Amino acid sequence: MQDNRKSRHEFDISDGEGIKLINNISLLSFDSLNMYSDKLQAYFTGRMGGVSKFPEGNLNLSFARGDSKELVLKNYELLSVATGIPLSEMVISAQVHDNRVRVVDQVDAGKGILFENDSKGYDGLVTNVKRVALIAFYADCTPIYLYDTKSEVIGLVHAGWRSTVKDIMSSTVETMKEKYGCRTENFAVVIGPRIRECCFEVGEDVYYEYTNTFKNIGKWLTRIDNKWYIDNSGVIKQRLKELGVPEESIFTSDFCTKCRKDLFFSHRGDNGACGCQVAIMRMI
Ligand SMILES: [Zn+2]
Repeated sequence: MQDNRKSRHEFDISDGEGIKLINNISLLSFDSLNMYSDKLQAYFTGRMGGVSKFPEGNLNLSFARGDSKELVLKNYELLSVATGIPLSEMVISAQVHDNRVRVVDQVDAGKGILFENDSKGYDGLVTNVKRVALIAFYADCTPIYLYDTKSEVIGLVHAGWRSTVKDIMSSTVETMKEKYGCRTENFAVVIGPRIRECCFEVGEDVYYEYTNTFKNIGKWLTRIDNKWYIDNSGVIKQRLKELGVPEESIFTSDFCTKCRKDLFFSHRGDNGACGCQVAIMRMI
């Protein structure tokens, strides 16, 4: 069973995740969510294979990064063919590095792509509606996929350092509990590709934002010379465990977006002149 799952990936980078090229675009997926493939689809796009002009020939999926709307829509059509998810069922976040969570319903399907997004300022999206696909954007920030395997509810989070220290993990999990009766012991969670501790250099101001907010996070913060290097996924994983998610139910991707800017957009790696990849997840 395990071997069959692995062999579906065209090239494995590490245990538990792999990239497939479909319709000429790259899709990363995770074994711990693929095991629910009769109920769930979840992917992280790469930069390869799109029709963007900015950057040329890449799969930029952001409407706010200098690409024309027409070309971004073509990239979404490539994603739609590759995943089988119609544009009319996608809902995109309008994220602002805060901690607000939007409860998404059938009425939101297509918003941000086919229709105006009337709901802005959310870095977390949750839904229990089948077929509606949640989408958030990344170019170094941390993606978190949440799936309550019993209640059948999904959540998707965009967490840069600002959202992390505003405790977006807590606001997302609390929303899933309050709105849908979710229980964290039933969660399957993936922390996806992001700028890792090798490359996420910050100044003292950001270091203090973390230490003023969270206790006992010293092992995720490393000082080298006069700079701090932060393992944001470690902080998020610790927060999820405090919220009741079992450690064995949390998978963390090995990919650093800045180290692997051949595969992914990286805001820092590309000196800000990059597109965005997306996390996309839906129940079927
Ligand atoms: Zn790195």
